[in-house]
Parts: sequence; C-alpha cells; structure tokens
Amino acid sequence: MNGDRTRVLVAGGGGFIGGWLARDLIARGHEVRCADIKPLDEWFQVHAEVENLVLDLRDIACSRQAVAGMSQAYNLAADMGGMGFIETHKADCMLSVLINTHLLLAARDAGVARYFYASSACVYAADKQTSADVTALREQDAYPAMPEDGYGWEKLFSERMCRHFREDYGLETRVARFHNVYGPHGTYDGGREKAPAAICRKVIQAKLSGTRDIEIWGDGLQTRSFMYIDDCIGGINRIMNSDIRDPINLGSSELVSINHLVNIVEEIAGVRLVRRYNPDAPKGVRGRNSDNALIRRLLGWEPSTPLLVGMRKTHDWIAMMMTGRGTPPTPAAS
Ligand code: NAD
Repeated sequence: MNGDRTRVLVAGGGGFIGGWLARDLIARGHEVRCADIKPLDEWFQVHAEVENLVLDLRDIACSRQAVAGMSQAYNLAADMGGMGFIETHKADCMLSVLINTHLLLAARDAGVARYFYASSACVYAADKQTSADVTALREQDAYPAMPEDGYGWEKLFSERMCRHFREDYGLETRVARFHNVYGPHGTYDGGREKAPAAICRKVIQAKLSGTRDIEIWGDGLQTRSFMYIDDCIGGINRIMNSDIRDPINLGSSELVSINHLVNIVEEIAGVRLVRRYNPDAPKGVRGRNSDNALIRRLLGWEPSTPLLVGMRKTHDWIAMMMTGRGTPPTPAAS
C-alpha cells in the first residue's frame, strides 16, 4: 500500500495526533480529508492541501459524509484529555463510542478497505498497575478486563467492535494502544492537557512570573512512559500497513516518574522550582509502561525518541505559544 496514492480520511484531524498524521499522509502522497467537530480556527494544524470538514462524527449522516469516496480511514476522533478530564467526564468519554460505531458502519457501507482505530493504554486492567515499579504491560494484560473507568471501557469495547467488523464484514481493521503521546501542536492548557504539556506550561509560567514553585499532582512518584509524536506517527503508518490484526502497544518503554519528568523540564528551562504536592488531584494508576516485545518481533521497530529530545521540542513550542511569539508555521516534528 505504501507509495500508492490513496484517498484517506483522518477523523479527528483537527486534534493533536490527527493533525500530525494528516501532515505525514500528505507527505507520503496521499489524498487526505480531515474531519473534526471543532470550528476550523481551533484546529491545531490546518493543512491547505487537505479537504477539511467540520462534522460531528457521533452523527451517522456526518460519518457517512466523512468516509464517502475514501479507501482508508483513521479514527483519531474522541472526546478526551488527560487524567483531570477523563476522571471527571466519564459519560462524555464513553459517548465517543458513537464516533467509532458510526464510522465503522459508514466505512463498511462505503467499501473502505482498511480502518485504523486509536486505542489507549487505559484499556489495561487496573490490578496490573498498582506499583510505581511496574512490570511493563503486555497486550494480553487487558484481560480479564478492568480498564480505566469510562474512557478505558469505551476504548476496550471499541477495539472489540473493530475486531468483529473484520470478522463479520471483512473490513480490515488495525488497532494501536497508544501510551501517553506528547509533542508540539497539542493541548497545553484548558483542562484537557496531559502531564508532559502541563508540566512544561507550569515550569514556563513559574519562570515567567518569578514565583519559582510548581504544583505536582500526587506525590510525583507515580510512573509512566511517554512517546514523542514522531514515533507515534511512524508507528501508526507501520501498523496500518502491516498484517497485525490484533491490538498492539504503541508506546515508549522509557519509564520515568513524574518527579523525573519535572527534573527534565527544569533542566530544559534552566530553572529549579519548589515542589508542592497535591495528593487530592487526579493521579490515575500508580505505574504504567509499555512492553514492546510484540511490536519489536512483528515490526522490527519500536518508539525510540529519548524523552529529553522530545521534551525539549515540546517545551520550546509551548514557550513560544505562551510568550506570544505567535503561532509559528507548522514545524516538522523531527
Ligand atoms: P485530541 O483531543 O487532540 O484529538 C481528538 C480530536 O477529536 C479533537 O480535535 C476533537 O475535537 C475531535 N472530536 C471529538 N469529538 C468529535 C466528534 N464528535 N466528531 C468529530 N471530531 C471529534 O486528542 P489526541 O491526543 O490527538 O488523541 C487522538 C486519539 O488518540 C484519541 O482517540 C485518543 O483517545 C487516542 N489516544 C491519545 C493519547 C495521547 O496521549 N494523546 C493516548 C492514548 C490514546
């Protein structure tokens, strides 16, 4: 499939990952259509050479309009955010099931050949993530199921829906479980931001205002891995064009504590801040990492951008946005 000019839908193309994916697909010579519920002036990236549609994909008619004439569809559209959002908007998160369900039905009826679904590490069972010194999560650890309440259940259900559309209707589906993705052109304030962008914003704010302190959610000892956007896009491309039919991890295996992530951003920004820990803030699971044995075996590849490298690019972009140096022309992620 690589190298052919294909008509491709990016659902959620106005979002962080969708914006970068559309850019990559254009560079690969594909004809791209993006669809997103947000008004166009709120999209993180708007690509001139793309057909951009503002559509609510929870609506079946809008999903049909989005996939009409497409031979591939990538579903990156979801009502989501960091822990602060998903712990307080469980119904909203679960309503994203309408997006995937209607896109699958529309794709089946329109004869779409291949369909990608963006799942999440939040599908993994809670009892496998109770220690900061966590054993990395293997694909089979999603079952017996006890995913993140709300958001994770929707993702797990939608993964299975993809599988059954393949089995019952012959729609080739591919599913990647993303582990915390970060990079420029994503949310860094407003309540939906995730830890890497939130920490960059707080450090930059403290530096600009001279307050020299930072609030950290939880005790800072909780652990995660974070994948730079370039690796995410490279992985989506590889998985979509592979014969991997079951959900597969797409994440970095570089495990860090939140305290360590703050150290990295302080180093990049050239400051040292006093840390105030907030035990009442949303924290999520205690520890989570991606086991990459399967992706290495099947693709001979895994995400590899060092955290310091990716965080520097992310920090610099957020600093540019926060200091009013305007929206720069979309930079290459690498
Ligand atoms: P994002 O919020 O930046 O992008 C999602 C986009 O979907 C937004 O632009 C939003 O407006 C759009 N959308 C929401 N409801 C819609 C609707 N009804 N119709 C059309 N568009 C709608 O998030 P992202 O980080 O780019 O995430 C993309 C996908 O990857 C999501 O499915 C998300 O759950 C998944 N994911 C992301 C991460 C991460 O760390 N960013 C981790 C795991 C999974």
